[in-house]
Amino acid sequence: MANVADGFGSSILGYPRIGSRRELKWALEHYWHGTGTREDLERVAREIVDDQINELHAAGLTQVPGNTFSYYDHILDNALLFGAVPERFKSLQADMHPLDFYFAMCRGAEDQPPLELVRFCSTPYHYRQPELDENTEFSLHAEALLDEFDRSMARGIELRPVVVGPVSLLLLSKKGPTSEREFSRLDLLDRLLPVYEELFEILARRGATCVQLDEPMFTQDRRDVDLEAFKRAYERLTNAPMRPRMLVTGQYDDFGEALRILAATKVEAIGLDLASFRMKPDRLAEIPGIKRKRLYAGVINGRNVWKSDRYVTLKYLSELAEVCPDMVVSTGCSLLHVPYDTLIEYELEGNLADRLSFAKQKVGEVVSLARALTEGPSENWRRKPSSVHFKQKHDVRQRVYAVTPAMREREPYADRRPAQQERLNLPLVPSTTLGSFPQTNEIRHLRYELGQGRLDYDTYVEKIKEEIERTIRLQEDIGLDVLVHGEHERNDMIQYFAEMLEGFATTHQGWVQVYGSRCVRPPILYGDVRRPKPMTVEWITYAQSLTDKPVKGMVTGPVTMIARSFVRQDQPLFDTADQVALAIRDEVTDLDRAGIAIIQVDEPSIRELMPLREGKERDEYLRWSVDAFKLATSSVRKETQIHTHINYSSKHSVVHAIERLDADVTALVATRSIKWVLEALEEDASHGEGLTHGVGPGVYESRSARIPDIDEFDELLTLASKSISIDRLWANPDGGLKTRHQWQLEPSLRNLVAAARRLRRRAAQEQQ
Ligand code: GLN
Repeated sequence: MANVADGFGSSILGYPRIGSRRELKWALEHYWHGTGTREDLERVAREIVDDQINELHAAGLTQVPGNTFSYYDHILDNALLFGAVPERFKSLQADMHPLDFYFAMCRGAEDQPPLELVRFCSTPYHYRQPELDENTEFSLHAEALLDEFDRSMARGIELRPVVVGPVSLLLLSKKGPTSEREFSRLDLLDRLLPVYEELFEILARRGATCVQLDEPMFTQDRRDVDLEAFKRAYERLTNAPMRPRMLVTGQYDDFGEALRILAATKVEAIGLDLASFRMKPDRLAEIPGIKRKRLYAGVINGRNVWKSDRYVTLKYLSELAEVCPDMVVSTGCSLLHVPYDTLIEYELEGNLADRLSFAKQKVGEVVSLARALTEGPSENWRRKPSSVHFKQKHDVRQRVYAVTPAMREREPYADRRPAQQERLNLPLVPSTTLGSFPQTNEIRHLRYELGQGRLDYDTYVEKIKEEIERTIRLQEDIGLDVLVHGEHERNDMIQYFAEMLEGFATTHQGWVQVYGSRCVRPPILYGDVRRPKPMTVEWITYAQSLTDKPVKGMVTGPVTMIARSFVRQDQPLFDTADQVALAIRDEVTDLDRAGIAIIQVDEPSIRELMPLREGKERDEYLRWSVDAFKLATSSVRKETQIHTHINYSSKHSVVHAIERLDADVTALVATRSIKWVLEALEEDASHGEGLTHGVGPGVYESRSARIPDIDEFDELLTLASKSISIDRLWANPDGGLKTRHQWQLEPSLRNLVAAARRLRRRAAQEQQ
């Protein structure tokens, strides 16, 4: 391990693992579908691990992280490393190969649904939530970790194994359904810590100098009991009889109180995400004990794709080094959330490509900064840095400056409601879906052929129109009240709109893992945004021409476009949001003019960008994100109904923000479960905090393969009608239906419609 005398060290906190060509994804899917063997999968995994270690070492990092690979999810891997097998899966374990057993927990088996999929901190990554109960016993299962460590050591590369810290591991888990009594997850801490000590001792005996413990849960607001547990854990672990040096990291935001606690323990090294939270060096200096720690200065941003300004960063690093002379230049978080390599993106405009930095390039930045800090900038540095030149569109800027508060307001809801009812004449508890219908392989194939230039556009349009017609007829037959066109022309909604808007670039291979084998290619929002021409009007008006029932216009909202893209950083996010909002507003206006009576503007990601800690920044975020949505949707006539689709949470600030969005109808994602949302709604209503406009709680879980019957839907809708008055209640699924099979979908929707009708009849009888 580098010491001060050797100069400043360089490292990263983690690396992508899906493979630069998504080799792991393909190997996983072949294995799951029975077209590949376990040996094939294991070989691919090993190649990814070995290549990564060699590459990081060769790039010049002074420390290479280990244990960053996962076949599916590293949080679950860490729970299993410490033997926390969820109780409800245990009976399957004996008869299965360990890898198959692992996939069973991730993907479900027989009558066991999979572990819940939960968003990881504020990243796009989702993890499978480990389940604990009061009887959970921990034990060490470190074979894979140690095997990797030993193999690497044999090649002369000492890894720094990365493990989730004990307190975050417990906080990231949940109480399992088999748990009989109330207990606090942190009660298990004393049972867990000895197993960490056991791991430390084994590592120390094998020659490991350092182990990394990630505590990402402490960059969010935490209760006092959590902080006490944190203190207790690190006081104990640092006193372990035999152990490597310990690096504890707080990724994704300000480490807050946890930093003070750690600085006062015997932990040797602390990693801070200084890219997400640029802590002032003099503030750092005020923390008692910090000067004696090795600081992993996480100045390179692991959550965006922009090259850092090396001069500014170097200056910041030298100021930090005055406080903490023992310093390692590092990334703020794992590089899991960025794509592999910009060099594959040969079609990006040169000027944009020059400013990008994916995982591979970020490693280079870290190494180069550490060297510059030790030896002074090299010759190369003296060359003029490529000028940071974002496309400036004068007219777009003028438009943003000219936005007035009135442009974000519609007529009062009390006036809009009767006007819309008169125009739409909808029954009580109208039924609808949220946009996408299942996509056939044929359509996907046609789109591929179109992209390859082997299909002409007119033929493609004809085929899509056929699909739209089929979808309209199906919905009429099912008896839905408000129809959709089905989104057959869209692959991924973000990619779809990004391809049509100026100011966004899309990549060929810029894949980022979301969970398991699933990856997305976030677009890159690099310049001023403009809508050159209508994007959806042709499809929607065609669909509307086929039926007398209203067909919803379907657009993705400005905040979600931003949350799911890598966004320019040279101007405040709220300016960028307003630019996107104006582009969406143009589309919404055109749909309104074309006579579309209901327009849905989806914002499922509006909470994703929300700062993790409460306070001024979060309030500001909620202000500008709501403002952007309103700018996008307020140009329509009062008799036009605006719908949105979002995640619910009964946090006061979120409910308040939903109210301020002022959409006529809000469809809710069943975030954890439908029941959870309904209970939260009821709880809020009982405090006088209920939603006051139309609401469609997602009573049909769009991700589930189940076919709920009429009674089940009836029960859920009846429950919903306790907190949402029946004249504002909608019946709908909780998300798009793109990934469902037709045979699951059709009966489910028929049952949903029947339940809504039943409720409607009952309500009419009661009124008589
Ligand atoms: N219109 C989108 C769809 O159906 C809604 C999904 C979303 O908001 N995420 O795919």
